[in-house]
Amino acid sequence: MKVDQKTRKRFWKMVRKDGASGCWIWIGSKTQGNYGSFGVNGKTVRAHKFCWEMANNRRVPSGLELHHRCTRKDCVRPDHLELVSHGANMAEAARRGVFSGERNGMAKLTDDDALWIRALFALGESPKEFAERFPVKEREIYNVVKGKTWGHVKIPENLPPVDVKEVILDLLPVLEGLYQLRVERGQPLPESFGELCRNCAAILLQ
Ligand SMILES: [Zn+2]
Repeated sequence: MKVDQKTRKRFWKMVRKDGASGCWIWIGSKTQGNYGSFGVNGKTVRAHKFCWEMANNRRVPSGLELHHRCTRKDCVRPDHLELVSHGANMAEAARRGVFSGERNGMAKLTDDDALWIRALFALGESPKEFAERFPVKEREIYNVVKGKTWGHVKIPENLPPVDVKEVILDLLPVLEGLYQLRVERGQPLPESFGELCRNCAAILLQ
């Protein structure tokens, strides 16, 4: 599996080493099931899988999966992962009582998910692209966007005061990821994106 320098650099920028556990924690965007997700060649892939494949210079063989021996799903450290059969991985998850967040037909969205889906859509993201991050089928994502389902979920009133600078600092990796994804796909950024970035910069410089 050939990975160019630029992609590697972009990948490692999203990894922080956790001293206590030795885990390499993904700080970029995550799936509903708390796996890291990474945009490469116009696709969203699991960060830990990508890392394992990069380290081992081969794909995960079909029919096999990577199991987190450290139990941290957002860890991408290759030697914390082992190849197992799908059945073994599911059995292990069931044993630990962990809900995998996979598209298993039983997964449900939360109120927060519904809000987040509408926010992504409002930001100009395509439901087709971000459906991957949620544990339901694409059709369900469209239903949420259109308000056919989860219509009862409204933006909460009386939100607690937030430290805007702190929020922006948290948001920066997301904005950067969004920017890079668009550039990779040759897609224009929403007009509002530049304005958002300028406003963020102005607030941080205050
Ligand atoms: Zn780990």
